[in-house]
Amino acid sequence: MSDQRDRSAENPILVRKYGGSSLASVDRIRAVAADLVAKNREGYRLAVVVSAMGRTTDELQHLAEQIAPRPPRRELDMLLSVGERITMSLLSMALQSQGCSAISFTGSQCGIITDTSHTDARVIEVRADRVRESLADGHVVIVAGFQGVSREREITTLGRGGSDTTAVALAAALGAERCEILKDVDGVFTADPHLVAVAKRHPRLGYRQMEEIAEAGCGVVHQRAVAFARKHDVELYVGSSFHRSPGTVVGPAPDASADAADTAPRWRPLSLVVHENMALLEFSRFDPDADPALRTGLAAGSAAAAPLIEWCTEGPDGFLWGLVAAPESVADLHDLVAPRAEAGEGRCRFRSGLTCLSIAGDPPRSWLEADGEIAAIFSDREFAGWEIRTSGSALHLLAPPDVAARMIPLLHARFWED
Ligand code: ASP
Ligand code: MG
Repeated sequence: MSDQRDRSAENPILVRKYGGSSLASVDRIRAVAADLVAKNREGYRLAVVVSAMGRTTDELQHLAEQIAPRPPRRELDMLLSVGERITMSLLSMALQSQGCSAISFTGSQCGIITDTSHTDARVIEVRADRVRESLADGHVVIVAGFQGVSREREITTLGRGGSDTTAVALAAALGAERCEILKDVDGVFTADPHLVAVAKRHPRLGYRQMEEIAEAGCGVVHQRAVAFARKHDVELYVGSSFHRSPGTVVGPAPDASADAADTAPRWRPLSLVVHENMALLEFSRFDPDADPALRTGLAAGSAAAAPLIEWCTEGPDGFLWGLVAAPESVADLHDLVAPRAEAGEGRCRFRSGLTCLSIAGDPPRSWLEADGEIAAIFSDREFAGWEIRTSGSALHLLAPPDVAARMIPLLHARFWED
């Protein structure tokens, strides 16, 4: 056993994950390698999870769709997993050319075992022996994110944004000191600082709080990765890969003082998440039991549309079902209900080109109070055409884009600037 091996066995393990825009060019890959060399010299053993370069995953997906509008999911996984293989090997080469010993592994090589659900697989086990051995041998280990292998020995991917989950799962398996998610943003903010210049960074969030923000569609960290971190007690850090920044630490909930809960009934949400170009589809006053095929079709279409929100109510006023999702994914559902509405079998509402402002995290005691607060801010006639839906721990405001643009600074000022 070499000296290097003896020494490095005592060094703490750090898992770092770099997003696609942090690795979008050869220069960026070299810069990331230089940062890793410096961290390695500080005495850390490093396992580094990488995303595909820039928009590679989108491009691969687009290639597949040109061949087949609905590509077979097994083959799609074979294709999409390539993106991360490109980055892992290039980063390993960059490290080696900077004099640092490194080795890259695919998800399957480092024992990320998943279920069989192609394009949306879940990690069920991480057999990280090979990573552990390579770390002990003094290598920086580079792991292709977003992918694993099923017990049927098929390559799987973990759903868009899934590299975060790879990183957290690996950190848990290795008993890493923490898992750092490095990206092109400086942490988790009260709003996107590009949209709201005075947005504030959250220095620290509890796991649940981060999950609530992620559930409202904030892409800073993948929701499943946060849930995994909570279950396995992995401390997360979210920050920039471009410069040093204090970032956001995500861990166990900060102790909420009982007094604060009593004396601060005011609703203090955590983040404003903006989704442009969304569509709303609502179908009401129909009888889903009278048409089982329709119910099945809507349910399948809705699952495929991966809606931001979906709601369903049934009572004396009849049945109402609706969702908000990207317009292309709502089109099929609209085609399904529109002819029925025309035939008088229900009522259909469709609005597209909407901006959805999701006010997420730390929900109020009652949505009715929250709704009243929103209504008070926008009682003016110049704000027309907005509507509200609530789901989980978020309140979603839907409005035409010009109206939404004027609402954003007022909402931010109301909740986060006093
Ligand atoms: N490259 C994949 C995606 O763009 C996975 C990831 O980046 O986490 O979704
Ligand atoms: Mg990506």
